[in-house]
Amino acid sequence: MQKKNILKIDHLHACIDDIPIIKGLNLSINSGEIHAIMGKNGSGKSTLAKVIAGHPNYKITQGQIFLSGEDITTQEPEIRSHKGIFLAFQYPVEIPGVSNTDFLRLAYNSQRKANKQPELDPLSFFDLLNQKTKLIEMDPTFLTRNVNEGFSGGEKKKNEILQMALLNGKLSILDETDSGLDIDALKTISNNINSLKNDDNAIILITHYQRLLDYIKPDFIHIMKEGKITYTGNSELAQQLEKYGYDYVK
Ligand code: ADP
Ligand code: MG
Repeated sequence: MQKKNILKIDHLHACIDDIPIIKGLNLSINSGEIHAIMGKNGSGKSTLAKVIAGHPNYKITQGQIFLSGEDITTQEPEIRSHKGIFLAFQYPVEIPGVSNTDFLRLAYNSQRKANKQPELDPLSFFDLLNQKTKLIEMDPTFLTRNVNEGFSGGEKKKNEILQMALLNGKLSILDETDSGLDIDALKTISNNINSLKNDDNAIILITHYQRLLDYIKPDFIHIMKEGKITYTGNSELAQQLEKYGYDYVK
């Protein structure tokens, strides 16, 4: 199995409201890999995730981002999404008045359209959605409810995983998908994530707890500090961090 480069970030600097947050970050991720990004609160992890996804509030002042070799630094977020970047938010938003199924069908079909594939009619889409819901062991009643409205923290996170399963991203970025989950939910979500991993995609797991990494074994763990990756290790780094804290890497 030949690995292909999925994401390459070169000397990235990004700011919000003229405040620099990402300060010279480099990262390279190949197909079939899971990378964990850990670091203290405020180190810039969520900012990095949003900058990769193309969030309009963040301005890239230096450096470049490549997806499968293509420079996407200045591309709009929807274009990046159509090309296979998926971001599961740390704080998923509620969308009152929009049913989960309608939302998912629109997202799915707009991706198909952008990639010049035929859109799925509501019935075929419903079949596909049912398969995905089963795959991640999600209660199908969540499909008829409004997007995340009244969902518990864990249910919102599960709903993000459903989107991930459906959109079949080339690069999925999961921002603290483990936070607020009880141990059973953590295990199920970890199983779901493991089942969505394949040789052609890549996953970034942002977390500051080691416990997620008991269930999902990353190929690399990066430590972020003050907007930069200051240390990269293998999956064993997580246990050391748990024992000794982030000062371990100093
Ligand atoms: P993490 O996800 O690692 O906890 P964040 O990326 O959320 O960190 O935040 C990194 C830094 O950027 C923090 O110091 C935070 O206060 C700052 N920051 C994030 N959003 C804004 C904003 N809208 N305005 C000013 N500062 C911000
Ligand atoms: Mg964060």
